[in-house]
Amino acid sequence: MLPPPPFRIGQGYDIHPLVAGRACILGGVKIPSDVGPEGHSDADVLLHAIADAILGAAGLRDIGHYFPNTDLTLQGMNSGVIVKKAVSEVTALGWRIGNVDLVVLAERPKISPHISEMKKSVAQLLGVEVGQVGIKATTNEGMDAIGQGKALAVQAVCLIYRG
Ligand code: MG
Repeated sequence: MLPPPPFRIGQGYDIHPLVAGRACILGGVKIPSDVGPEGHSDADVLLHAIADAILGAAGLRDIGHYFPNTDLTLQGMNSGVIVKKAVSEVTALGWRIGNVDLVVLAERPKISPHISEMKKSVAQLLGVEVGQVGIKATTNEGMDAIGQGKALAVQAVCLIYRG
């Protein structure tokens, strides 16, 4: 049998309902909005998807395993902690972050004016250059819960490598 390759890919996905009166924090950046993702932590959907992509790349369990939503001490927590935990878990196994690429699916709020700041914030959390972070935004063209502005979802992929 051939040895395994010195790189791996992982994917992550997360979706939260959008509700009035919640802060909208994506990638660690507070986005002006009259609705925000509902959730147990700060509900940073983007960081949750990234953390699962990182963990998945190394064949580890999902973020619910490390941060169960039954743990009341995690209420309102900064999801940057979740991403840093994912990075430290894979780093401990000898992996480094190659790049992440993300798609934000949302009808509202408007994401594009905030992408540069979100990329900087995510790069800082991951300890990589801004050029190793891709973030795109799209809508669901008025279809389904996302298209009707009732939910916000993020898809993520992450490449890790032996470094
Ligand atoms: Mg989540």
